Amino acid sequence: MDGRPNVAVNRLLDVAKSAELSSVEALAPAVARLRGRPLTIQHFDLPIGTFGQWIETEDTDVLVVPRSALNREVTLGHEYGHMLLGHVGVLFSQFAGELVTAAEPES
Ligand SMILES: [Zn+2]
Repeated sequence: MDGRPNVAVNRLLDVAKSAELSSVEALAPAVARLRGRPLTIQHFDLPIGTFGQWIETEDTDVLVVPRSALNREVTLGHEYGHMLLGHVGVLFSQFAGELVTAAEPES
């Protein structure tokens, strides 16, 4: 996988169907095709300071972006970048552990 962002963006735009070019979120199926695995976008709140999270399971990708985030499109584009540049997402077990830790009251 080529690690240059401009190459990744061009590959994404090459495979995107015209309807998928209507918004950053609409590009999700094109990202999934490039990665060869399903991608879903989930909306729920994350710990303070976390604007988005890419979670990898064995056979799917999940992007979590809070619905209330002001910069949702920027966050999605940022996470797509990680996915298309060959980076590694957070494993689901690790993500779940971080959520539990963030939810625990301070002692
Ligand atoms: Zn990042």
